[in-house]
Amino acid sequence: MICELPDFWSETWRTCRGRSKKPMRCVECDGEIVKGMRYLDYSGKWEGDVQTYRFHELCWQIHEGQHAFIREHTTYSADEYPAFGEMVEYAREDADNMGGFPDYWPPGLYVGVRALRAHVSEQWSKQNDGSTAAGGL
Ligand SMILES: [Zn+2]
Repeated sequence: MICELPDFWSETWRTCRGRSKKPMRCVECDGEIVKGMRYLDYSGKWEGDVQTYRFHELCWQIHEGQHAFIREHTTYSADEYPAFGEMVEYAREDADNMGGFPDYWPPGLYVGVRALRAHVSEQWSKQNDGSTAAGGL
């Protein structure tokens, strides 16, 4: 579903302190946001309801890339964007339409929620090993 931008919203980058009892999850890959991870806290008001979504840094980067891709390749207007939680579905459609991975998707990664979740956690452990391989992704 393509939806309109919220009436108002705020984007706040935070670092997970691991204090909440209930683990936080990323809306796109459904993976856990673990202690020490940077994540985006996106709160918005849609049709009177305030909702909060959280994204892994990597998942948000893909989301932003997808948003740009959609603006470039489709006729949607600038204030419309794919609904949160449907990024992978859209990526799969884009991959089908293009006959290949869309350029915003991590190269070589299968377009699926589980694959994305595994990718995020792999990048995170690489980063924690002090490797530079993660390259900010
Ligand atoms: Zn994620």
